[in-house]
Amino acid sequence: VIEIKNLHKSFGALEVIKGVDIVAHKGDVVSLIGSSGSGKSTILRCANLLENSQKGDILFEGEPVKWKGTGASRVPADRKQVMRIRTNLSMVFQQFNLWSHMTILENVMEAPVTVLGRDKAEVEASARKYLDKVGIGDKCDAYPAQLSGGQQQRAAIARGLCMEPRALLFDEPTSALDPELEQEVIKVIKSLANEGRTMLIVTHDMRMAADISDTVVFLHQGKIEEQGDPADILVNPQTERLKQFLSATA
Ligand code: ATP
Ligand code: MG
Repeated sequence: VIEIKNLHKSFGALEVIKGVDIVAHKGDVVSLIGSSGSGKSTILRCANLLENSQKGDILFEGEPVKWKGTGASRVPADRKQVMRIRTNLSMVFQQFNLWSHMTILENVMEAPVTVLGRDKAEVEASARKYLDKVGIGDKCDAYPAQLSGGQQQRAAIARGLCMEPRALLFDEPTSALDPELEQEVIKVIKSLANEGRTMLIVTHDMRMAADISDTVVFLHQGKIEEQGDPADILVNPQTERLKQFLSATA
């Protein structure tokens, strides 16, 4: 579904992504791991075109992103394509970014109704279905402030699902949560993995990465240092850097 080829990204003179290749086929779960500042969030943001990149290709379902300009002035050329890709890649952030003045149900319904222009009654039915699925079907009429952090994050996941995206991108979805709330969210993510959803997940949770990933990608200073099957690379890391990283996070 998503292919990233030889991606390069700089912020001014600082090159933070230095030629990265990542593929997530349909139904794949790909986890990105690596220390702080290694470029994990930047890759996700480039993948859904929230951030410009200077070199390399991004393909969505085989369709390459069209660019205009080169290098520092390169931007996506086709607004409609950008919208199509973005609405097909739902992103779930560390901070849940729910609208505080809307109920949980309204939060989940907002984008499908206003961005996709879908029928309100239909969207409401699917919003309720996804809120049930993530275990907070009884919170439809509550406001975000009335929910625990874990419940808010599950609402944010339901909101992402309600867009009926082709893939989900998660940026450390549990890192703002207490350990016991973290588990509720991990359970939801695992169930999505078991359903065969395509997901790209930035995580610091090696247990979750080992459990659900088809591929784990270890980034170091904007480059892929090692990648592969979690049963190989998390168990028998080949590089010193990954060995160090894993022993530091254990
Ligand atoms: P963390 O685990 O802390 O979230 P990360 O792997 O997600 O780290 P990124 O957020 O992708 O790392 O950042 C990669 C590098 O890019 C860092 O050196 C960071 O300082 C730099 N960077 C990120 N966003 C910007 C920005 N908007 N402007 C300038 N530099 C940035
Ligand atoms: Mg990050």
